[in-house]
Amino acid sequence: MLYSSVTAAATGNDGASSGFRPSEALARVGDSGTDGVTWLGHATAVAELAGTRVVFDPLLPWRAKKAGVVDAVLVTHSHVDHLNRWSLRAIPREAHLVVPRGCRDIVSDLGFARVTEVTAGDQLAIGGIEVHAVPTRHDNGRWSKRDAPECVGYVIKRDKLAIHHAGDVDFSDHRVFDDIGKRFDIAATLLPIGGMMPVWYYRTRRTRIDQGVHIDPDCALDIYERLGARALVPVHWGTLHLRLGLPSMPRRRLAKIALARNASGVHILEHGARLDLAEISGGAEPRLGAP
Ligand SMILES: [Zn+2]
Ligand SMILES: [Zn+2]
Repeated sequence: MLYSSVTAAATGNDGASSGFRPSEALARVGDSGTDGVTWLGHATAVAELAGTRVVFDPLLPWRAKKAGVVDAVLVTHSHVDHLNRWSLRAIPREAHLVVPRGCRDIVSDLGFARVTEVTAGDQLAIGGIEVHAVPTRHDNGRWSKRDAPECVGYVIKRDKLAIHHAGDVDFSDHRVFDDIGKRFDIAATLLPIGGMMPVWYYRTRRTRIDQGVHIDPDCALDIYERLGARALVPVHWGTLHLRLGLPSMPRRRLAKIALARNASGVHILEHGARLDLAEISGGAEPRLGAP
């Protein structure tokens, strides 16, 4: 389910009682037969488009299993919370595993029948959809900053309907998202609104020289506007954190600034909740997690 109202999203109870069910209690994502996105926690999400099902960045085996049978696994980058070997082992090996350039050696022993490395600009056909690797802004490398493996985002597309997943994003130059927005008519984008540290920490990084590796909710809303997407599903929050602040803070901040900026189409989901794209394709009223 969605959060019940703007007020609840903005001022609800602290994260410990914010309505999140433990991953073990998540329902398996069934084949709905409609286009939509289900958030399973952190950056893990199932997208269904034109009958093709993909899971992005499966993290933790029990959560990966909730994705059900998928046609493809799309991994955005090699950081362990996105390219997670333990979790990939929980995915049926018939799925087409797509990873950024430089990741093949990390996954080659996992037994996937088909592994494809991509770099930004590449395009694949999987099932009935197009899968486009697109640029994003984040550190390359797995354990330290290096040139490889690379980071990418993805746009999956059928006809005019497109869904975007940015992977992780830092505070560096976000013009790449203008270009993605010009190239695709994005129905829904999944953008990170936090990391493992509290919101205030990322806010302080915005103006620092190194600019950190994650963004704050304000920056995610900026990117959403740059993309020209019709819906924003915030991810990378409320799942992994270091208990230095409430896990609900990123969503509270996002709800607050979305209201202040009169931004429409912000859908703050619970773990296991689904956004049906039919809800946003007909010019529906702006909503912030309304029931
Ligand atoms: Zn990362
Ligand atoms: Zn991450």
